[in-house]
Amino acid sequence: MAVSRIVIENCAVATVDAHNTEYAEGHLVVNGNRIETVGPGPAPEGLTDVVRRIDGTGHLATPGLVNTHHHFYQWLTRGLATDHNLFDWLVALYPTWARIDEPMVRAAARGSLAMMAIGGVTLAMDHHYVYPRGAGDLTGALVGAARELGVRFTLARGSMDRGTSDGGLPPDFAVETLDGALAATEEAIDQHHDPAPDAMTRIAVAPCSPFSVSTELMRQGAELARRKGVRLHTHGSETIEEERFCKELFGMGPTDYFASTGWLGDDVWMAHCVHMNDSDIAAFARTGTGVAHCPSSNARLGAGIARVPEMLAAKVPVGLGVDGTASNEAGELRTELRNALLINRLGARRETALTTRQALRLGTYGGARVLGRHQETGSLEPGKLADLVLWRLDTLAHASMADPVAALVLGAPAPVTLSLVDGRPVVEDGRLVTVDEDEVARVTRGEARRLAEIARAL
Ligand SMILES: [Zn+2]
Repeated sequence: MAVSRIVIENCAVATVDAHNTEYAEGHLVVNGNRIETVGPGPAPEGLTDVVRRIDGTGHLATPGLVNTHHHFYQWLTRGLATDHNLFDWLVALYPTWARIDEPMVRAAARGSLAMMAIGGVTLAMDHHYVYPRGAGDLTGALVGAARELGVRFTLARGSMDRGTSDGGLPPDFAVETLDGALAATEEAIDQHHDPAPDAMTRIAVAPCSPFSVSTELMRQGAELARRKGVRLHTHGSETIEEERFCKELFGMGPTDYFASTGWLGDDVWMAHCVHMNDSDIAAFARTGTGVAHCPSSNARLGAGIARVPEMLAAKVPVGLGVDGTASNEAGELRTELRNALLINRLGARRETALTTRQALRLGTYGGARVLGRHQETGSLEPGKLADLVLWRLDTLAHASMADPVAALVLGAPAPVTLSLVDGRPVVEDGRLVTVDEDEVARVTRGEARRLAEIARAL
């Protein structure tokens, strides 16, 4: 039975379906929280229960963008340690991060989510791994912020239990115990994970990285995820230093270490995967392990260039991530479409390394695939969830480009005229409709100052 229909017409449409079907002028009909029809020309006549009819002239409709790697709390520590590599940057920032509390995390999550939503993200994720003792209900704050903003959300419940006294990188006071981390992760799953196909909230198990987590936490974390039927996420093969660390501590490189702890599989996705040799890529392809490619963060920290063209050729699932905003201050995904394309074309004879269509696919369907949501979202097809964006391309920034996908990927960040998540508007004419953007900015500024003051007194 019809709930209510939204009709969008007269726009270009890039469906990002299996055939990359595009319409120079087409339509979409949304019924409740699902896409009912998508096709060329105007919408079918005689539709009932139409609550809204949108003239999309001058616009491009695409699936909503999907972000596959982020750390919301870093919204409060942007623009610091700007000339460091990963390990030095982490050591510089850990003491400040270890002082976060619930109001700070809530504010940072609202800021991060607001920025992403304004830029066309409809499915967000957060990898949160800093849980200082007595900081309050950080998981509840993160999940609550996504609900308030109206964005679909995967929370990767992170953890760290390898402090400096165990040869790890984070200070001892910033880590949890093995049992404490596992119990809190299981509690997050029990409280918030929704396995339903149209779920707004999913939880994943996400120990932080080999250099901040014990082998036992990796192993038992994988067992917990599989017992609960949730996905697994961590950082992998980000830098040369990490590779050296793994070889010294475990006698093998990161991919072999992940294999030995149960961390390769089609229910796993990893951030970065910059330093991968041919056999690492083959192992990811064989097992269906996914990759969150974060081009700006990799450039900001001088980590290197991930081998995305080779991964795609081997059929490794790849999505895009902004990474935390302490290493990607912009914190929005639409610029990552362009940055992914540009960075992957660096080097000799790589002019076809990544196409504009592949870049759009990485940021939509590819992301949904690595988050395990590609059956439900990530492309514009009848029956899929109504998570979509209408990009404005008829102003000075884009109007002279005939190819709307090239305009979106290569041009300046395109304004969002409308984004729908689960059939509900989240952005209209470039402004959030679910929260007051100026209030979010004011609160995040206050919480960032409070954290900076605490850090200064250390
Ligand atoms: Zn990260």
